[in-house]
Amino acid sequence: METGLLFIVSGPSGTGKSTLCKDLMKLIPDIHFSVSYTTRLPRKDERPGEAYHFVSRETFTAMIDKGEFAEWAEIYGHLYGTPRPVIEQTLRKGKDLLFDIDGQGSRQLKKNYPRAITIFLIPPSLEELAKRLQKRETDSSAVIRERVTKACAEIAQAPDYAYIIINDIYAQALQALHSIVLAEKHRGERMKKYLTIFGKPR
Ligand code: ADP
Ligand code: 5GP
Repeated sequence: METGLLFIVSGPSGTGKSTLCKDLMKLIPDIHFSVSYTTRLPRKDERPGEAYHFVSRETFTAMIDKGEFAEWAEIYGHLYGTPRPVIEQTLRKGKDLLFDIDGQGSRQLKKNYPRAITIFLIPPSLEELAKRLQKRETDSSAVIRERVTKACAEIAQAPDYAYIIINDIYAQALQALHSIVLAEKHRGERMKKYLTIFGKPR
């Protein structure tokens, strides 16, 4: 039976992953976003259950012990994890899933789901990355410096990904992301099911 596709979007914090993922879902409404669990506090526009499920460290560690995460990682002092049951249920229904997770999570998911399609977002420069983190107004200047410092090491992993997008001009980056997802959804092997009304495909 054919299952859904997994699209993993990674890249340094502040590059634009969550903004692009949100807009991608408006363009392709039938894609399902994997809502992670986190121990960090919600930002001012974040509603529980949309970008994240916000839980205490105790709840999160109990979930680790029960094997409820397909992967989890500690990032900038907070825990983040991808709930396992949602992946299985969504893929079984033939629905596609979108993940906004870091490099460690991406590698782990790719190991467990080798057909996952990995996409790496990079900023046009470190200066622009710092500006975006400042504009977001969610992190202190010390946290911003730490995130910018870590960006180079993260970007060094980009060649391991199937696709790389430079998020400089926003509309172009969104178009690139949209095109990648559409192209993967239209691969011949996935379109075979639509051929049956014209006879038995080879
Ligand atoms: P991430 O999820 O990768 O941490 P966000 O999606 O929160 O990043 O984006 C960080 C900030 O950068 C946000 O204020 C967002 O509006 C802004 N941003 C995203 N893409 C662009 C772009 N191409 N040009 C300018 N600002 C951008
Ligand atoms: P933020 O706190 O800025 O929303 O996210 C910080 C980092 O955590 C980002 O790189 C984001 O992609 C990553 N992240 C979010 N959810 C998960 C998850 O479930 N697993 C992993 N490994 N990383 C995550």
